[in-house]
Amino acid sequence: MSDELSDEAATYDGILLGAGHNALVLQAYLGRAGLKTLCLERGATPGGGLTTVEDPRHPGFLHNTHSFFHRAITYMPWYRDLELARRGARYLEPELNVALVQGDGNVLEWWTDFERTAASFERFSARDARALRRWRDDFVPVLEKIVGPESRTPPVPAAERRALLAKSREGRLLLETSELSPQEFVLREFEHPVIQAGLLFFNGLREVDLRCKGFGHHIPVLLAASGKAQMCVGGSAGLARALERAVRETGGEIRCGAAPKRILVENGAAAGVETEAGERIRARHFVASGLNPQQTFLELLDERHVPAEWRSRAAGFAYNLIAPLFGLNLALRERPVYAAERQFPHLSQALMVILGLEGYAQYPEIVDCHERGEIPPTVMWGSTPTVFDPTQAPPGRHTAFMWEKLPYRLHGDPQAWDREKEAHGRQMLALWTRHAPNLDGAVIDSFTRSALDTERTFPNMREGDLLVGAFTHGQIGADRPFPGAGHYRGHLKGLYLCGSSCHPGGNITGLPGYNCAQVLHADLGLRADWAPEPAASALAKLG
Ligand SMILES: Cc1cc2nc3c(=O)[nH]c(=O)nc-3n(C[C@H](O)[C@H](O)[C@H](O)COP(=O)(O)OP(=O)(O)OC[C@H]3O[C@@H](n4cnc5c(N)ncnc54)[C@H](O)[C@@H]3O)c2cc1C
Repeated sequence: MSDELSDEAATYDGILLGAGHNALVLQAYLGRAGLKTLCLERGATPGGGLTTVEDPRHPGFLHNTHSFFHRAITYMPWYRDLELARRGARYLEPELNVALVQGDGNVLEWWTDFERTAASFERFSARDARALRRWRDDFVPVLEKIVGPESRTPPVPAAERRALLAKSREGRLLLETSELSPQEFVLREFEHPVIQAGLLFFNGLREVDLRCKGFGHHIPVLLAASGKAQMCVGGSAGLARALERAVRETGGEIRCGAAPKRILVENGAAAGVETEAGERIRARHFVASGLNPQQTFLELLDERHVPAEWRSRAAGFAYNLIAPLFGLNLALRERPVYAAERQFPHLSQALMVILGLEGYAQYPEIVDCHERGEIPPTVMWGSTPTVFDPTQAPPGRHTAFMWEKLPYRLHGDPQAWDREKEAHGRQMLALWTRHAPNLDGAVIDSFTRSALDTERTFPNMREGDLLVGAFTHGQIGADRPFPGAGHYRGHLKGLYLCGSSCHPGGNITGLPGYNCAQVLHADLGLRADWAPEPAASALAKLG
């Protein structure tokens, strides 16, 4: 089929594919630079994983069906540059950030105040509290001088990065720690099984395979991070609305319910997009895809336009085994009141509550179950957003949710979720009610969402992988999404990648979009006084 674009085709400086938050961040920066852009989104609203829906049976109950815990969002450079607070985004950062509630009523706590976290660790193990302090102190400069700046700039190729890091004390510490797997790091440095479990929950279970060497530094980075989990007032969609304003107020257009069918190529360059409805739209300078590599290189581009090596690498882009989430969402007459609150009254004000995690020994079984496609004994975490933000439910009422990591291929078949999800939701509610007995009789409405539902809503989250691609060797840093493509540029002139399959990866960080904005500004010769110092020169100054 011809890729020809007629002279009458609608024309923009650039076209973005998928209105996830990363694409919106990119689009807003380009609008500030004076470019006229169009974003094509298959869904009904922009924002991707920034979704808040109203219960159709019970108006006024708002549920965040995708992301809820937004880590350190208000500290992100794009949050400031795009003036999102002025554009309506409002965030809360509850002081008791995370509470791991044990079956015996004991609670391990993470506070925004480090000293209170250390005191909670001390109740479990004085040695672990010392290790927490030592690693926090050692890694604050690593985070500030290396890991933070590296996440906010296009990545440096691995060999060059290693050579630069080897020159400084902080760099060498980072390299040494990253030799280990998260599991090795935690078991070597911490002794108490609950603390081990809590630390591995954060990075081993949620982000990377806890057995994978090369990722041990994730744990001390976490201990050193001052930015904690935040929540958006009005629901996560509040951030999407502010981003949408930032786009529209700078002249950008977002078209929802408009899926791209093909990326059009002229003279070896990305020249436009044909929509599913058959419209051909010209892109003067670029097409930027916020989708995954399979969608971008295999589905939207004709085979003849993609070299065999790129096709095979895109096809091989892998998804996280342990990333898929199962969600149980409740509309409630009253908030869950935890039995453990009798001993720990401030638990009523915990942003994130973890249940079912009793010790490190559960991890091998959880991983094993994921590999076999079976449901492990429940470990779940969630929140009661309305404790902090009453606007998410009618007066006096509440919403709450729990998430659990469960395999995408249940018994080898993702479709099995449609048969089993309600029963599994009941099991989760039973565990929740054991910890918060007043839930018995407090539930007005409930619904579940499986990894299959996630994939149906957002096909870029293939296999329900909410991080849009595994964090594993060959898919991180300058190798993300795959070697040769880790610079936000495709193989064709004018083709760019801006979604979570790029460095630094998934979750609500906006950084893939922010980093792609730096590359596009440089390539188009646009002024970018907001852009940070490139990572290579920042690393070269260490020593
Ligand atoms: C259940 C769940 C809970 C989560 N919780 C958290 C959390 O608490 N904290 C956190 O930081 N992250 C969380 N995440 C992960 C986070 O939502 C994602 O990593 C993030 O949204 C990815 O952002 P993105 O901009 O790359 O793309 P997305 O947010 O995935 O947006 C991609 C957009 O592209 C659109 N699209 C897909 N295919 C096409 C197509 N063919 N044509 C046009 N448009 C298309 C989609 O409709 C979507 O709007 C969660 C995800 C899930 C599923």
